[in-house]
Amino acid sequence: MNSGEASLFEILEELAVSDFSGSSPCAVCRLQRRSVERGLKLLYYELINDMPTRMEWRKAGGFCPEHTRTAIQHGDPLGAAILSLDLVDIALQRITKVKKGLRKISISAKPAPCHICKLQQEAGKRYILALTQGLNEKQDAWQALEKSEHLLCIAHISALISLLSPQQADRVRMLAQKKITALQKELEEAVRKSDYRFLHEASGSERDAWLRAMQLLNQPHNHI
Ligand SMILES: [Zn+2]
Ligand SMILES: [Zn+2]
Repeated sequence: MNSGEASLFEILEELAVSDFSGSSPCAVCRLQRRSVERGLKLLYYELINDMPTRMEWRKAGGFCPEHTRTAIQHGDPLGAAILSLDLVDIALQRITKVKKGLRKISISAKPAPCHICKLQQEAGKRYILALTQGLNEKQDAWQALEKSEHLLCIAHISALISLLSPQQADRVRMLAQKKITALQKELEEAVRKSDYRFLHEASGSERDAWLRAMQLLNQPHNHI
């Protein structure tokens, strides 16, 4: 099995998962998150003294704000201390260069993508390309996508549509529209039931629709 086939196998398995237990309902986002966790372990335990990795780390100025939280959650105290030592000089230089006036601070150049931004984008591309290949060659891939209980997030469904033939893209668009409309109905139902007149009604699948909607419909930066 080559790496493309292995990625397709993983994505087809992930599409069949209906209980995402607090993670994203999007199968590609979940696989991206796992790739990031593996990549962070590799950074802390194997690449910590790799010079090109450390140069890239200094250039990015550490992790971006979003991924600083990820790195803290999955962090290793020794690895984090070693990497942070690399940033001390950069931080000291930076504060010595600050000029008077608040505007000058806000006009700072956009930093290079952080190590986790890159891991996330590489993983997203890998799985979306594998799924595209699967949809081009295998009926199983269509069945997995159509049977999947949850939608891919907007960023990933858009990336997938952009790689397919017009006919395939229409098929995926229709599927996505159907799922977005169903989610919209659940959100409307959740809002309706929050009205005091309907509070006595038992809650159904709409109770966590807000959570799925936040994860599926938001389109973060640095996301393929
Ligand atoms: Zn996603
Ligand atoms: Zn980042």
